[in-house]
Amino acid sequence: MQTETLKNKLQENNIILDDYQIDQIIELMNEIVETNKKINLTRITDENDFIDKHIIDALTCPLDQTDQKIIDVGTGGGFPGLPLAIAYPQRQWTLMDATEKKIRAIERIANNIDVHNVTFITGRAEELAHQQTYRESFDAVVSRAVANLPVLTELCAAFIVPDGHFYAWKGEKSEQEIREAQNTFKTLGLEVESINHNLLLKNTVFHVIIQCRKTGITPKEYPRNFGQIKKKPL
Ligand code: SAH
Repeated sequence: MQTETLKNKLQENNIILDDYQIDQIIELMNEIVETNKKINLTRITDENDFIDKHIIDALTCPLDQTDQKIIDVGTGGGFPGLPLAIAYPQRQWTLMDATEKKIRAIERIANNIDVHNVTFITGRAEELAHQQTYRESFDAVVSRAVANLPVLTELCAAFIVPDGHFYAWKGEKSEQEIREAQNTFKTLGLEVESINHNLLLKNTVFHVIIQCRKTGITPKEYPRNFGQIKKKPL
């Protein structure tokens, strides 16, 4: 039953996964629901909702061929990063979050379901982005439900190599957020390339995925500390 529902929804959304990947997605759901009894990873545990809002929502990302090394900033319970790592096993994924216990939990889940193309890091984006190992060293950043777009952009921009991509999952207020982020984009060297409507829920758009391209180098002083980012968005 679970497998059929998932297969149908993948097909409706033109997402192609093989049987092994489909099994991994099902196991992922079971592991998350089980772990969620002890550690709060998600509010979405109903099967249909899980498939729509966690799996299809992640896999409709219009990832570019050139995005080989990708970081998920504020991955929480592993979204969108874990379904994407399953769908793109040849690419190198880094899942990062400020909360250690979430990172440890999803690291264990990834191991249990044989997902090995992922590195897990605990830390704050605005601090890690100043470390040489991480600064301008990812082809792409993906991020969902972490902060409003101006704040999120400052947290994420410095991770991306010039010409790389930024994929931000946004809700109903996406247009307003894009307007408000114009100056942040300009200061940090990003431009909007496409706005992808995720039509999975048919009548309502659950998320749009905003795809940006990095056109320059992020000035050294960014990201600022979190207090400043929040208090004085660019
Ligand atoms: N992306 C997941 C989780 C969203 S909840 C999803 O869509 O389901 C937001 C997560 O972002 C939390 O787990 C929180 O710990 C993390 N977070 C918030 N600010 C952060 C920061 N500055 N650096 C790293 N992680 C952060």
